[in-house]
Amino acid sequence: MVLAAPDDLTLREVDDPVAGPGEVIVDVSTCGVCRTDLQIVSGDIEMRKRPVIPGHQVVGRIAGTGERVGLAWLAGACGCCRECLAGRENLCEQAEFRGWTVDGGYAERVAARRDFTFPLPDGMSDIQAAPLLCAGIIGYRSLRLSGIEPGGRLGLFGFGSSAHLAIQVARHWGCEVLVFSRSSAEHELARGLGAAWVGGYDDPPPEPLDAAVTFAPAGSVVVAALRALAPGATVAINAIHLDGIPAFSYDLLWRERVLRSVANFTRADATAFLELAAEIPVRAQTQTFALAEAPQALARLAAGEVQGSAVLVMS
Ligand SMILES: [Zn+2]
Ligand SMILES: [Zn+2]
Repeated sequence: MVLAAPDDLTLREVDDPVAGPGEVIVDVSTCGVCRTDLQIVSGDIEMRKRPVIPGHQVVGRIAGTGERVGLAWLAGACGCCRECLAGRENLCEQAEFRGWTVDGGYAERVAARRDFTFPLPDGMSDIQAAPLLCAGIIGYRSLRLSGIEPGGRLGLFGFGSSAHLAIQVARHWGCEVLVFSRSSAEHELARGLGAAWVGGYDDPPPEPLDAAVTFAPAGSVVVAALRALAPGATVAINAIHLDGIPAFSYDLLWRERVLRSVANFTRADATAFLELAAEIPVRAQTQTFALAEAPQALARLAAGEVQGSAVLVMS
């Protein structure tokens, strides 16, 4: 599926990818559909490579060896800048991103740096594993950066693909999880996954939150999360693109509340999360589509009609 320009995503026959130095070819089995894909396809996130094949939650097998691996959003980093040397390769200026600056997994075959492939634990299917590779890993990093501690009271704002995986980790840590969402279907899914309370974005929680993560791509939700926080607590914003944050009273931030973004992830996050996901085990609720149905999958995601995670399955 080739994105030639914003809103121009079509099925095309293209040349097989060629492995560069340090790269392998991965025969794709499944690829998750992420909200970031939607933002790239719609032009909300500016295209960096043209044309580009989207998709950054890729499960496949390395051609030649058959080893099952995952590919994720972080497709490369320089390894020698200030950020890389400090263990923050997610902030590397030279970082490459799958399905944005390099081709992704809405395809039968893709080239990838060998050192940015992730072995997948046994016991999870290719369909189950795909959403873990972005929704899961970035949700996990968001939980970490929110500062939530085992047994703490955590708010999740928005309850799509990433949040429905993050709640399973938080419940495993013994957290009390409150879910804020507009959708009654999401409320129901949240309750089924152990949410102690569900409400709308602006509903006050019964008790102030020890930490919050926002998943909804709306700046107003960030302010709602800040309003629900206890003093000294953090809102971690799990969004690569936001429509601006409305002005708010400094009183909401006062008393050492913290607002921070979550940018990408590191390979250490990916490895830690995939091991934890296998141990818990984290189960993704999935809805599958054929490769050629990618535009329909993205449209359903845009309309809020996907429960859990959409996954493309190559034939
Ligand atoms: Zn770097
Ligand atoms: Zn993603």
